Amino acid sequence: MDYSFTRLSFPHNLSKSTCPPGCGAIQAEVYFSKKYKPMTGKPDDYIEPVIHDLRRCGLIKDADEILFRNATFAEYANVIFDLERAENLATVHGYLDEIGIRYCGRYGDWGYMWTDDSFKSGERAAQSILDEASS
Ligand SMILES: Cc1cc2nc3c(=O)[nH]c(=O)nc-3n(C[C@H](O)[C@H](O)[C@H](O)COP(=O)(O)OP(=O)(O)OC[C@H]3O[C@@H](n4cnc5c(N)ncnc54)[C@H](O)[C@@H]3O)c2cc1C
Repeated sequence: MDYSFTRLSFPHNLSKSTCPPGCGAIQAEVYFSKKYKPMTGKPDDYIEPVIHDLRRCGLIKDADEILFRNATFAEYANVIFDLERAENLATVHGYLDEIGIRYCGRYGDWGYMWTDDSFKSGERAAQSILDEASS
């Protein structure tokens, strides 16, 4: 089925303070790309389609009351794994290696990384600099 959102999370499962007692919270991610799927409206335009789809898939029931809705826009978010990624990444990383610049994190490694992966990537980059300095 074709849904407007790509990923959902449920912040109330992480902390009770994300919503009032007896309520739940749903965060929906809707992805865009200037190259493949440009964003044509404003962030708020996507709230109703998301709610509609949450009802369609049964996560919101007709009787459920929505107390708060909000949309925010993150211009730089997930890395897109397109057909050019591998070749372009090899070019950029190859050049940075050549001139001795370390890279790390989601945009340095240009990967699908979670927070912990990004942290470890930063540690690896820092360690590599320390190793080189002490050799
Ligand atoms: C939609 C979405 C959902 C996600 N969900 C999860 C999740 O559920 N769990 C999870 O673990 N991870 C999640 N992540 C991944 C996580 O947010 C990233 O992997 C992590 O934040 C990457 O850390 P980073 O330090 O590499 O980059 P960032 O957190 O992006 O930090 C880079 C920083 O550099 C700053 N910066 C950029 N350019 C410059 C400049 N020229 N000069 C100075 N500063 C600059 C930026 O402002 C930013 O503060 C999600 C990411 C996205 C986009």
